[in-house]
Amino acid sequence: MLEVSDLTVRYGAEIALDGANLVVADRSIHALMGPSGSGKSTMLRAIAGLEHPDGGDVRWNKTSITDVPTHRRGFGLMFQDYALFPHRTVAGNVAFGLRMQRLDADTVRARVTSVLDLVGLPGYETRSVGTLSGGERQRVALARTLAPRPRLVLLDEPLGALDRSLREHLLIEMHSIFAKVEATVLYVTHDRDEAFTIADQIAIIRDGRIVADDTPEGLWHNPPDVWTANFIGLENLCTLAGLARLGLQPPMTGATAGAVPPEAITLATDGTRSGIVVGSHFRGGAYRVELDVGTDAFLVAWSPIGLEPGAQQRFEIAAGSVRWFAD
Ligand code: ADP
Repeated sequence: MLEVSDLTVRYGAEIALDGANLVVADRSIHALMGPSGSGKSTMLRAIAGLEHPDGGDVRWNKTSITDVPTHRRGFGLMFQDYALFPHRTVAGNVAFGLRMQRLDADTVRARVTSVLDLVGLPGYETRSVGTLSGGERQRVALARTLAPRPRLVLLDEPLGALDRSLREHLLIEMHSIFAKVEATVLYVTHDRDEAFTIADQIAIIRDGRIVADDTPEGLWHNPPDVWTANFIGLENLCTLAGLARLGLQPPMTGATAGAVPPEAITLATDGTRSGIVVGSHFRGGAYRVELDVGTDAFLVAWSPIGLEPGAQQRFEIAAGSVRWFAD
């Protein structure tokens, strides 16, 4: 189990990590998600030992490793640019970390073969890295990271250089590879879909602090504040005034905003609320409809049939489903 407590890293006057806390459970895939400049890479580098913290502690199984050098931590790292050796074969690249472990040649060969099978590149040993596609290189990088059987796998935007459809495919595959080898993983990304697809748990980092840490479902249904709700892409975030005009009042004092989940909106001719249709787009299975409800926000709802822009549409909101925020 990895425990990061109160971790602080400064670059001169710049505070990159500001007392960050994180726990990564054994055999779990934990995503670390945040906007650019929020401190994701700094956190990963500090966990890897590539950055010495100005404060706080990094522990593995309750023992501090803050002063343990990178190569003694037993962690595997993979970055966006893969950093493969272009003039070595696939086997030469994958075996790199194993040579450092001083294993004998037969063990290295067997380990390379089995890890190439694992990442879906059986028989690729003698191929030159220069002849591989982007997706294949990414798999070689993953094989190289996993070959020494690291106790923690640290990934920094590992799919950032690949196109969307390939990314999705590899994400699902990586998920099953990690499950197969029972890896403990910290996966850094700025991409919501990536985090939600691969992670068992998602930590959100903002200005060097972890502001949320939950399962994907928990985070989606119960984000701790408006900023997080907005960052993960929750729809129909409205001000209190806008919600009041829809007849929705917060159940607690101190609320400052609320979100109406699209699935809480039912379009019905006898609905008590109404809006003007400003958009209606087929999204496979249903239409995504945007309604101008005369407030400071549009409401997005789902409709089984396409609606005419400009038409008046009545609807109902399941008031109990509105998520309220107090910050
Ligand atoms: P992220 O990975 O989320 O994009 P980083 O961890 O790279 O964020 O950076 C966090 C903050 O620290 C940013 O404001 C960045 O400009 C700053 N920073 C990162 N590395 C350095 C460095 N080597 N020198 C000075 N400032 C840095």
